[in-house]
Amino acid sequence: MTTLDALLAKAEDLYMDTRYEAARAWKAAAPGRAVVGHAPVFAPVEVIVAAGALPLAVAGAGDRVDVIRGDAYFQSYICRIPRSILELAFEGNLDFVDLMVFPSTCDVIRNLSGVWTLAVEDQPAFFLDVPQGGGAPGGGLDTAPVPPRAVREGFWASQLRQVWERVAAITGASTDPESLRAAIRLANDWRGAVRELYDARAEEPWKFPAGATYLVLAAGDVLPLDEHAEMVRDYVRLSRARDLRRRDNIRVVVQGSFCERPPLGLVRTLDRAGLYVVDDDFVLYSRWYERDIDEEGDPLANLARAFFDRSRTTATVYERDQDRAQELVARARRRRADGVVLMAASFCDPALLDRPALTAALQDAGIPVTDFKFAENTSQFSAVREQVGTFSDSVRLWSRT
Ligand code: SF4
Repeated sequence: MTTLDALLAKAEDLYMDTRYEAARAWKAAAPGRAVVGHAPVFAPVEVIVAAGALPLAVAGAGDRVDVIRGDAYFQSYICRIPRSILELAFEGNLDFVDLMVFPSTCDVIRNLSGVWTLAVEDQPAFFLDVPQGGGAPGGGLDTAPVPPRAVREGFWASQLRQVWERVAAITGASTDPESLRAAIRLANDWRGAVRELYDARAEEPWKFPAGATYLVLAAGDVLPLDEHAEMVRDYVRLSRARDLRRRDNIRVVVQGSFCERPPLGLVRTLDRAGLYVVDDDFVLYSRWYERDIDEEGDPLANLARAFFDRSRTTATVYERDQDRAQELVARARRRRADGVVLMAASFCDPALLDRPALTAALQDAGIPVTDFKFAENTSQFSAVREQVGTFSDSVRLWSRT
């Protein structure tokens, strides 16, 4: 039986390993296996798994890789993640990946998809056009019209089918609906485990430090879904059993780090600065659907529909019928948060363009908020520690009732 220390050591080893040895070993363990990389934020894990491949989250490399050649392909005033993803490819760290999927997260990822196609030899890419418009019925004369919902669902099903068929052509698997149904079942269980972790942490955050939880989440980047679900449930069980003293930390929701990942040292700094993180938008693909995808009926149609009626809100998807600011206020209240930390990657347009509306809504709701920016390779955290430490002190002294 594993111990908490052993589990966290394994998670940290996986996090530090930019050669993705665990995914390489999985692929080498049986003939015909394939690995499909996916860039943030949305990941079509169900169709990748249904086609017999391992989904691998390629989410940059933080300060674990020196970006040299990757810099030459992008202007200086954008975020860092596309450079480090390219650098990983140029250094051969992704040479075992059979296909890279780039979702239409933002202009940067869109451009990265094109650059990859031109600059990374012998490793094909698939640009996945993620639908916009949310669950709204669509149609009609509106300031931001979207096509009817049925059209968007049909379009999305065809996009997912293309990924599925593309991966199946690599592995030689059939695109039998039952294999997709089994993959949906597996993914539902995996996301269920992650939801259990978030609920357990919100209940007893002093037992689930943000840094450790972040490592456990990120382990899902390279592990098969069932292995990761087991790790997450072990982490919850072992952490709950800990007899830790509850401190007078404030409870916060962290928002804005859904794509470029904050460095581990930064997340640990939140722990050290008097915060209990009770919710966040880290590693978002593992919590994309807020409820299970239906397992009965046509699995591809169920998968397509789930995107419109149970996706989590995020700045990278336009949803006409959703107000992200009010959703954040509601989430902060549901998690009984004392405050919100808006923590976005430098030059991340989706996160930073949201910031004024989020800040105003939080202030109107009387929820204290602070914000700062980071880069995935930031290595100095003293200014952040001072800022969030002061935020924590001020909330404790003046905002709590
Ligand atoms: S960090 Fe922001 S701007 Fe950069 S690729 Fe991700 S979503 Fe796009």
